Amino acid sequence: MIHYSCDLCGKDLPAGSSRYTVRIEVFAAAEADASEADLLNKPDEIIQQMLEKMEQMSLKEIEDGNYRIFRYDLCRQCQLRYLADPLSHTKDLRRMHFDN
Ligand SMILES: [Zn+2]
Repeated sequence: MIHYSCDLCGKDLPAGSSRYTVRIEVFAAAEADASEADLLNKPDEIIQQMLEKMEQMSLKEIEDGNYRIFRYDLCRQCQLRYLADPLSHTKDLRRMHFDN
């Protein structure tokens, strides 16, 4: 059985409790052969091209390059904090209070 805990506050997240997954994907804004219009009009096609390109790269090349994926599990309270400021513009998120 998989045991989950909140990646921000460390709270245990037992089966049946509210658990939220944050998946962050970081990649170059534009491939050399993809225009901004292409990215807006056919994002699935552009992403598919990027994935095909990545299949030809080693893991080291991918990690050192412009593509990273992060995955975190959050409790309800940390999910609310995260949604209020996903890029951490607020200096001290832990001081923010939300009513559950
Ligand atoms: Zn938490």
